[in-house]
Amino acid sequence: MKYIGVDLGGTNIVVGITDSEGNILKCYTRPTITTRKTEEIFDDIIDMCQILIEEFNLDTSSLKGIGMGIPGEVDGKKGIINYSNNIPMKDFNVGSYMQNLCKKVNMDIPFFFANDADCAALGELVAGAGKGHSDLIILTLGTGVGGGIIINNKIYSGFYAGGAELGHQTIVHNGELCTCGNKGCLEAYASATALIRDAKKAAIENPSSLLNTLSENNLDNMTAKIVFDAKDQKDSVATKLVEDYIEYLAVGVANLVNIFKPEILLLSGGISKQEEKLTKPLKEKVITKVFGNDLKTKIDIATLGNDAGLIGAAMLSR
Ligand SMILES: [Zn+2]
Repeated sequence: MKYIGVDLGGTNIVVGITDSEGNILKCYTRPTITTRKTEEIFDDIIDMCQILIEEFNLDTSSLKGIGMGIPGEVDGKKGIINYSNNIPMKDFNVGSYMQNLCKKVNMDIPFFFANDADCAALGELVAGAGKGHSDLIILTLGTGVGGGIIINNKIYSGFYAGGAELGHQTIVHNGELCTCGNKGCLEAYASATALIRDAKKAAIENPSSLLNTLSENNLDNMTAKIVFDAKDQKDSVATKLVEDYIEYLAVGVANLVNIFKPEILLLSGGISKQEEKLTKPLKEKVITKVFGNDLKTKIDIATLGNDAGLIGAAMLSR
């Protein structure tokens, strides 16, 4: 059995074909060009799907369906995109649009839709670090903090669309302002953006810190990696920044463990490249915060990188 997945991003559209294990057999990328009409974007997607179907000489009956990961609030049951941050779409009935489009080109294939972060969680479960597990949570530590929840092999995003916004749990009452407009969200402390914000401030307050040297005395060069590198070189300012960062992340992770007790919790995104330097101290802090100090949940690093979303989207039709 073959599966087709679509990873619709703010920059690129990736359409790929996978086997039942989630191995990508072939994929194509085209620019999303968000300035064009929503319909044109989806016309492009169908075209890319058709190219793959022809290339693999697939009979559409041998395809379980086409799954699509979309950034934003997606009602998978109704096939409606309520809104998207990266692509200007609002209350767009993607389900009926795609079905009509398929009819026109004689493609009789069911479509499945989900939020892109939820797809990444499913991808890791099927083909990545979550393989062999049934209950998983993923936290993506990048520009923002994304998240996805898998319960009993299925995406859980709430009764209403748009749940599993794990980055927008409040971890500090009246804390730092978040991109969502609230204060004190996990994202405002555990995203790479938050770490860079704090590092710039600390670098100004501590001119002799390695943070300044490693960013070549230009704060625009500051990255999360520089902060971790400065800590590795025993810079006391960077050490404090990393400790605080992991402390806040641990609060968010402990909340998730207390609520869901998943088998495994994965970290992905830029900061997860720190691997053990992140997971080891994180686990130590999480243990002190979880109920009964009993941490059974495995905390690990996601392995699929950017492919997770595409693989998970393909697996929506499993
Ligand atoms: Zn928020």
